[in-house]
Amino acid sequence: MTALGFGIASAQAAPPKLAGGGGKKVIVLGAGVAGMTAAYELSKAGYEVTVLEARSFAGGRCQTARKGFKLTELGGETQECDFDEGLYINHGPWRIPYHHQSTLHYTKEFNVPVEIFVNDNDHSYVMFQHGKGPLAGKPLRKGEVAADMRGGAAEILAKSVKQGALDAQMSAEDREQLIAYLVGEGYLTNDLAYKGTEGRGFAIPPGPGVDPGPGKPSTPYAFADVLHSNAWRVLTSVSNYDQQRTMFQPVGGMDRIAKGFEGAVGHLIRYSHQVKSFKQNAKGVEVAFTDGDGKPGTIAADYCICTIPLSVLRQIDIQVSKPFKEAMANVAYAPVGKIGLQMKRRFWEEDHHIYGGHVYFDDPEVLSLSFPSTGWQSKKGVILGYYQFGGQAAKVSALSPAERQALAGRAGDKVFDGYSASIENSFSVAWHRVEHNLGGWAQWSDEERAKSYPVLCEPDGRLYLAGEHMSYIGGWQAGGIESAWQQIAKLHARVHAA
Ligand SMILES: Cc1cc2nc3c(=O)[nH]c(=O)nc-3n(C[C@H](O)[C@H](O)[C@H](O)COP(=O)(O)OP(=O)(O)OC[C@H]3O[C@@H](n4cnc5c(N)ncnc54)[C@H](O)[C@@H]3O)c2cc1C
Repeated sequence: MTALGFGIASAQAAPPKLAGGGGKKVIVLGAGVAGMTAAYELSKAGYEVTVLEARSFAGGRCQTARKGFKLTELGGETQECDFDEGLYINHGPWRIPYHHQSTLHYTKEFNVPVEIFVNDNDHSYVMFQHGKGPLAGKPLRKGEVAADMRGGAAEILAKSVKQGALDAQMSAEDREQLIAYLVGEGYLTNDLAYKGTEGRGFAIPPGPGVDPGPGKPSTPYAFADVLHSNAWRVLTSVSNYDQQRTMFQPVGGMDRIAKGFEGAVGHLIRYSHQVKSFKQNAKGVEVAFTDGDGKPGTIAADYCICTIPLSVLRQIDIQVSKPFKEAMANVAYAPVGKIGLQMKRRFWEEDHHIYGGHVYFDDPEVLSLSFPSTGWQSKKGVILGYYQFGGQAAKVSALSPAERQALAGRAGDKVFDGYSASIENSFSVAWHRVEHNLGGWAQWSDEERAKSYPVLCEPDGRLYLAGEHMSYIGGWQAGGIESAWQQIAKLHARVHAA
């Protein structure tokens, strides 16, 4: 396709360059970021595109809950978000890594301003209860744990090297270099001891005059106590590929991305149109749906791009080959839960001087709570009260919204005095109980990734699948966007080859 000039080689950073669609008709199923990407690029290239979307709004998982946003989970009560004006929670996608150039391509294209999302904060806490020793079960500043763990480890290694423990493995020159590195990394003194560092904070911070003057340095924890606390488990040498210390978020809420797309392709979308079946033959495709009034209808086209999550699609009557149908059945979807808590006041900033980032728990019911990366120093804010996955998310999703709020409140009370008393209202979601999604994202096992995934990456007749589930960037908007880029490039090449 690159040879044909369709430019798929650069697909990760920019859409394929398509032209000459010649009015061929394409039905796109689903108006999430994948569906809207396909609709946008194909319509620009001269295709006649119609998008069928079951919801009354576009964006799919790319949602933001703010005042008036309603959600009824399957078998659950209806929640209406009651946050104050200007406050919101991104209860689906919430952060964008720098290397998701595809997502950032569209924020730029649609003039969606982005700001920094603080994804790591040394001044925030680690709350691990299942360790041992005097530090277990106490909120510890992450930076203190990091300084003392790295300092303690550097001291032991540096002294061992000095005492000849690695003489057989390393040359004298390399040993010297290693020690120099450890002195810098661990803030070691000339005698290779770790005695704390200003970076972990002061007991009395420096100030004016002679008192407090230079302040008083903090005292490091005993290395054995930090080891036993387990809190070091949150540390890594470098941040994960997907999780940099600072990331991006759209100003005003993640759904600004959906709105950006909608501004460009909204006129192509038929809202509240739920796909009921899909048929195809050698000449074209036909999709049956019910509209917002429950009235049935059909629409025909030359090709179909389907971005409906497989968790939903496999319950729809679609005419595809047996291997394709079998492959669709073989992927699990992740139970995922989030809750937004509107807080009376920004006590984490005012009392604890924490600006963004997360508190980490070893309690799987909570895992983390996260502070907003917006509205700094304003009166109120919305905290992400938990972010759970798997069995724990399934368990918590059985609770009512009020019970979920109480659970999140109890977790926060372990770290902050008056946390639950500060909660004014909440909005929670269990994505595996959300109609039209039935899960947070696809979770391919290694076996099914090798066996079923490649089958679904190829078209079945005139049907092309796209969406985050059709990528190795699962659980990210970039996966949806880039899979759409890949599939429309394939479709376009076929149209031109015909
Ligand atoms: C809790 C959570 C956190 C996340 N965090 C991040 C993050 O920080 N950053 C990031 O980039 N991504 C994140 N993601 C992932 C991101 O939200 C998804 O990968 C992306 O939005 C998926 O887009 P999509 O178009 O593939 O699917 P969807 O957005 O699910 O779109 C599919 C569309 O199909 C529609 N549909 C379903 N059934 C029918 C039917 N029968 N008829 C018609 N239409 C139908 C749906 O309504 C929906 O609009 C997160 C997701 C979750 C759930």
